[in-house]
Amino acid sequence: MSTQPSFADNPSNESRDPAYFGYYAMLQHQQNMLQDTVRTSTYRNAILLNTECFEDKLVMDVGAGSGILSYFAVQAGAKKVYAVEASDMALKMKKLVKAASLPNAKNEFLKDRVEVIQAKIEDPSVKAPKVDTIISEPIGVLLVHERMIESFIYARDTFLKPGGHLFPNKGTMYLAPFTDALLFTETMGKARFWEQTTFHGVDLSPLYPDAKAEMFGMPVVGHFDPKSLLATPTSDAEGYEMDFSTITMKALRDFVVPISWRAQYTGLMHGVAGWFDLLFSGNAESEASQPVEMSTGPSAEKTHWQQVRFMFREPLAVNAGQTIRGWMHCVVNDMRSYTVDIEVIVGQYGELSDPSQPFEPLLEQQAKRQGHHERTPEEAQDDEEEEEDDLQFSRRRGRWELHEQSYNYSYTGSANDMLTKPEHLCMYEPESVDDAYGGITYTV
Ligand code: SAH
Repeated sequence: MSTQPSFADNPSNESRDPAYFGYYAMLQHQQNMLQDTVRTSTYRNAILLNTECFEDKLVMDVGAGSGILSYFAVQAGAKKVYAVEASDMALKMKKLVKAASLPNAKNEFLKDRVEVIQAKIEDPSVKAPKVDTIISEPIGVLLVHERMIESFIYARDTFLKPGGHLFPNKGTMYLAPFTDALLFTETMGKARFWEQTTFHGVDLSPLYPDAKAEMFGMPVVGHFDPKSLLATPTSDAEGYEMDFSTITMKALRDFVVPISWRAQYTGLMHGVAGWFDLLFSGNAESEASQPVEMSTGPSAEKTHWQQVRFMFREPLAVNAGQTIRGWMHCVVNDMRSYTVDIEVIVGQYGELSDPSQPFEPLLEQQAKRQGHHERTPEEAQDDEEEEEDDLQFSRRRGRWELHEQSYNYSYTGSANDMLTKPEHLCMYEPESVDDAYGGITYTV
């Protein structure tokens, strides 16, 4: 039985630093983010539409990278920007900022406005005053991958003046049930390689269960058809909000996202999909403030964050109108990421397990029950036991490591995809939709 790393262990990021900052020291990786037009122009809009938070202000850019957000802040009138960057990208930024002092420099507007500090923000050697506004792009896959929001929060607690502003100030995570028979088949295909009993004369099959666990334990990153969702989170209330101005380090490192959906179609749920929105409220107290929002959902314009899907090893049959309850429990790991446990139950029967209890895959739970306890026929008639038996069929549980990502680029969002109807995805509308004018009311 594997156990959940507890918050007390507080796995640190440090061991990953050389690889992590080595990656961000390369221009091609900064370029990848700069070329995400949705991302970069959202930040630019958020900053330039809220000059109130920048004009003649002291600003800090946490994890400045190429320095792009610092330059936007100067464009919005910042008096001084402290651009803190741990990787060697800081040297590139220095080069660019230094060139602003040359005669006839195109970047003359940056002259004397940006101070590059090469250090981890958490390094006590960082010498910067308290600032009016902190800008940062600390966002990873499913909002939290890379664990950089922790550095953003550290900067908030260490360098932000009381009443100062954070850009962005909120992130909201969304989860939804999806169907994708092809993705399931492809994943099984990878695992089934290990079913072979005569691979160059070798029986690989003892490793088949491990292969299946590994392949399904990898979150699938990529865009997908928004029509493949069996239920769509619509209102903000259905998202899990992280308010960066108030969230604690503890709440970032170990949190539970409640799940509650009502299936809109009859079909097979292959797992749980996730994405997020970002919000830049600016100065919420001022009438001049213009909030800017960005969505990375499957119906929104594509971003480099894409979406993520956690696939079950066995799909779950759901009927239109049924409720799906559950939770997603995320706990930081020492891979700059999270261990993600998800449990869902379809229908109204059965109790969800406690997300804070050690993780136990369903198969192990069942094996234990059967091994410890041979039921007599009398017991088998017992209602509670029958309910528990049913629960085996209506419940799914799994664990994924958010950093062990696999990629799926099969969805292009082309004109052909637009023609897809639910039944092409094996999702079936409740009968009453056809009968909308025939007097049958479909009540859920
Ligand atoms: N702000 C830039 C880069 C964003 S990527 C942009 O929007 O384009 C995040 C950057 O933060 C990377 O360059 C990474 O090296 C840096 N970073 C991550 N954690 C950091 C920390 N704790 N201290 C300083 N820099 C950090």
